[in-house]
Amino acid sequence: MSNVILKHVWKVYDGKVEAVKDANLIINDKEFAVLVGPSGCGKTTTLRMIAGLEEITKGTVEIGGKIVNDVEPKDRDIAMVFQNYALYPHMTVYQNMSFGLRLRKFPKAEIDKRVKEASRILGIENLLERKPKQLSGGQRQRVALGRAIVRDPKVFLFDEPLSNLDAKLRVQMRSELKKLHLRLNATMVYVTHDQVEAMTMADKIVVIKDGIIQQIDSPFNLYHYPKNTFVAGFIGSPSMNFLDASVVGKDDGLWIKLKNDIMLKVPKIYEEELVDYKGKDIVFGIRPEDIYDKMFAVAAKSENTVSVSVDILEPLGNQTILHAKVGEDLVVASIDPKTEAEVGQKIDLVFDMSMMRAFDVETQQAIITKEKLEHGLNESKSARVSGNNGSSKK
Ligand code: ATP
Repeated sequence: MSNVILKHVWKVYDGKVEAVKDANLIINDKEFAVLVGPSGCGKTTTLRMIAGLEEITKGTVEIGGKIVNDVEPKDRDIAMVFQNYALYPHMTVYQNMSFGLRLRKFPKAEIDKRVKEASRILGIENLLERKPKQLSGGQRQRVALGRAIVRDPKVFLFDEPLSNLDAKLRVQMRSELKKLHLRLNATMVYVTHDQVEAMTMADKIVVIKDGIIQQIDSPFNLYHYPKNTFVAGFIGSPSMNFLDASVVGKDDGLWIKLKNDIMLKVPKIYEEELVDYKGKDIVFGIRPEDIYDKMFAVAAKSENTVSVSVDILEPLGNQTILHAKVGEDLVVASIDPKTEAEVGQKIDLVFDMSMMRAFDVETQQAIITKEKLEHGLNESKSARVSGNNGSSKK
């Protein structure tokens, strides 16, 4: 069993910088967990405490059921892959990969077997006699991975291992790492500030802000059921739209009132959750992909359609990102690339209100429960507000 458990873990640097605050986290055996958050949020510090490279101020770290606070890094049965690879320049690939095993006095034949096997998995068998400077960035990264693999550790720790690679190679290595995880069947903890990396690779994502864990969840749940505005805004690209709004009660139910008296009808399923907010301000959230060009929407009604003026159009080929003014607010929508919208012109946008999100102004916490949002997701699927990307035009 090689799970990693953090219980009430704190890291305070120099008695004053609280880099990690009361972290509680369970990473299960064979799980791929990604710690993600903006620069300085404490993810590297957390990883380094797991590795034993940073002293734990308070709390406990367990690996494989054993508290390791006082265990030396070399005795923790972990292998860490860093952003800068940290290869020895004067050694060949073979020597770099075998170095740790030689230090541990492994028999020569066993070392050879492990290096050959790892280099086969990584497709670098033909590079074993080269020195690091004779390798490309991607090849160096593979060698760094190989050095970790030969150790056959309980837990792999990765600190932004792909950030020195160009965009294309990063995408490739992302899927290779994922395959590697399946193949090695090992527990992996991976640090990145890139939410796309987190979403594509993780079984479990840990979103951190200012040293505090905000939410631990699957990529799907983080995207659909964010617990607060930070998570909602951090996961997803382009980011979720947040608009100042209030909840208004009318004869026919609840409405969301945006600036300039723009009104959007709250779906029945969410009324119970929002009724306490009647007459109060909320933060209204909606993802760009849940706003549609009316031309391609099949469920446009006056209660979910807003006329906007187009500010910017960014055609990406498979979609067009539209920036528009909704009253005084700016809204970003990811719409069908066949749109006829033009900058400076008006266009009707349809909001898929079953996908709306609502947050408390004070606490920034989500108001609508996951259970209700699951209903909303199903409603959105069956109503198919949009025919985005190919389905029927109204
Ligand atoms: P990045 O993505 O930029 O690497 P991060 O999320 O990994 O950021 P950490 O490196 O863990 O963040 O740093 C968390 C906080 O602790 C930051 O405010 C940082 O300035 C501070 N910090 C990190 N190392 C030290 C140190 N050795 N001494 C004092 N403060 C530190």
